[in-house]
Amino acid sequence: MAAYPVTEHLYDVVVVGAGGSGLRATLGMGMAGLKTACITKVFPTRSHTVAAQGGISAALGNMGKDDWRWHFYDSVKGSDWLGDQDAIEYMVREAIPAVIELEHYGVPFSRTEDGKIYQRPFGGHTTEYGEGPMAKRACAAADRTGHAIIHTLYQQSLRHNAEFFVEYFALDLIMDEEGACVGVMAWNLEDGTIHRFRAHLVVLATGGYGRAFFSTTQAHTCTGDGNAMALRAGVPLQDPEFFQFHPTGVYGAGVLITEGARGEGGYVTNGEGERFMERYAPHAKDLASRDVVSRAMTIEIREGRGCGPLKDHIMLHLEHLDPKVLHERLPGISETAKIFAGVEVTREPIPVLPTAHYAMGGIPTNYRGEALNPTESDPERTVPGLMAIGEAACVSVHGANRLGTNSLLDLVVFGRSAAHRAAEIVTAGAKHKPLSNGAGDNAVARLDKVRNAKGKLKAGEIRLAMQRTMQADCAIFRGPTLADGVAKIAEITALMNDLALTDRSMIWNTDLLEALELDNLLAQSAVTINAALARTESRGAHAREDFPDRDDVHWLKHSVAWLDANGKVRLGYRPVHLNTMSNEVESIPPKARVY
Ligand SMILES: Cc1cc2nc3c(=O)[nH]c(=O)nc-3n(C[C@H](O)[C@H](O)[C@H](O)COP(=O)(O)OP(=O)(O)OC[C@H]3O[C@@H](n4cnc5c(N)ncnc54)[C@H](O)[C@@H]3O)c2cc1C
Repeated sequence: MAAYPVTEHLYDVVVVGAGGSGLRATLGMGMAGLKTACITKVFPTRSHTVAAQGGISAALGNMGKDDWRWHFYDSVKGSDWLGDQDAIEYMVREAIPAVIELEHYGVPFSRTEDGKIYQRPFGGHTTEYGEGPMAKRACAAADRTGHAIIHTLYQQSLRHNAEFFVEYFALDLIMDEEGACVGVMAWNLEDGTIHRFRAHLVVLATGGYGRAFFSTTQAHTCTGDGNAMALRAGVPLQDPEFFQFHPTGVYGAGVLITEGARGEGGYVTNGEGERFMERYAPHAKDLASRDVVSRAMTIEIREGRGCGPLKDHIMLHLEHLDPKVLHERLPGISETAKIFAGVEVTREPIPVLPTAHYAMGGIPTNYRGEALNPTESDPERTVPGLMAIGEAACVSVHGANRLGTNSLLDLVVFGRSAAHRAAEIVTAGAKHKPLSNGAGDNAVARLDKVRNAKGKLKAGEIRLAMQRTMQADCAIFRGPTLADGVAKIAEITALMNDLALTDRSMIWNTDLLEALELDNLLAQSAVTINAALARTESRGAHAREDFPDRDDVHWLKHSVAWLDANGKVRLGYRPVHLNTMSNEVESIPPKARVY
């Protein structure tokens, strides 16, 4: 192996990722007086959070009666009872101060006539424990809410002296003999140097892995690198089989049209012009939760009632809405529809298809952000020195299906909670434990191996095979081909031995970068599809054609998936927390989920 000189850094805390969750944690840790570094492979405000459109939920009740207990009920039901109810309680209660805090930090929310934060309806968010009308709970800055939030959080982080390492690609965690995380290795894309960051605490805030699928709303950078780093460090992923498909990706392009469009009164029709959601969800109709709408659309298409010459998509209508509403509340998606579908939304409907959107699973954590590596006797066992937040984490507040607007909320609530916990467990400026010989060498060796790959296959070819397999065998409906899919992902992973790289430089080598990201995606595809095959029931986003019913007797439990060094997926299970945190709200026992 070539020699790679290593630059050393010492920090109290290192946050990997500068999306909404990473920035909120970085800000909080800086405020607590901890010496904090934030490493990010893209410029902070280019993180995928910038693309979030529709809103962030909080029962503020600005535009009608609302209650955080109703938000609690909706989230538990939305999760198909797989969410941990204590963590959900924490999130929906903290939502109210968290959004007010964002407002005070400077987020330019849209406003009501009397100057309050504007709130719109969103799928699965109701009033009166599902009995009342849809709630107006999604706090929005037009349809560019993520953009507004991420810019504000970045500015606030700079104000609190966070140090940013921009265009640094984190390679792997550094673990000590006792299984504690003591730092992270990174590659500076700009000048090609290798860096060793030592820290008392490493926080993974690396986002989702939508790029494992062929059609996704997620950015090219969403390769779940932190999840794969955790897997390589012996830390499992929880509930990876639950991947959300958003009903309205633009047909062909996959780019998102926010659910806020239906929140503002949009609706979907099939090839016969029928508003079919009335048949599937008589009460919530177009605003049923995402798994329900995505399945309904897929069934319509399969049964020959799709739109267009190939009958292979569905139409989303906004043309009946007041052009003023479109202009003020949905300017971004009006532009998106024009660019990606060539459609003028004031005049014609948008062709749409369900598209991979959000990873409900991720690194298991408690509500303070501490990563868990459960054992049968201790399902809450923490990994010292490691935290995970945002889409990379599974707290679990989204269970088997996330409600729209609950992710931006998750980012700020648990980013903040992780910062509070860090202030409790890390002493600013404390001495670092000595590192063992060769700490971080494995990360460099992995990079070196890929960099010098001399096989025949381009990373792009292997990636396409993986994405097609995940889309065909592990998408909205999972059926008889799932076992084939498991075998195929194993074969495609083995193709990495025949990887070809032409560029062997170290400076902005995107060939190398994409190959490392692909390796990360393959690890996550393996745990996702294996956990999906093992779960012989249908729940939330996991719909098995061969096991169409939810089975609480055998499956009301979290999957936990490790990836062993030999590349084999090992599965275990962890109980769901069915208890609440306080006695101010009652836990909700599982019942049938209808909208
Ligand atoms: C198009 C779209 C619209 C959405 N709209 C909404 C919405 O309206 N409401 C809502 O609640 N949710 C929405 N979501 C979901 C939500 O936006 C995401 O789940 C959330 O933004 C993820 O934030 P994050 O902080 O976990 O990670 P991200 O914002 O994805 O950021 C990941 C960060 O990790 C860094 N990183 C990753 N790997 C590495 C590495 N190897 N080395 C260094 N840095 C690394 C990246 O540079 C980046 O800074 C939307 C998602 C999409 C895709």
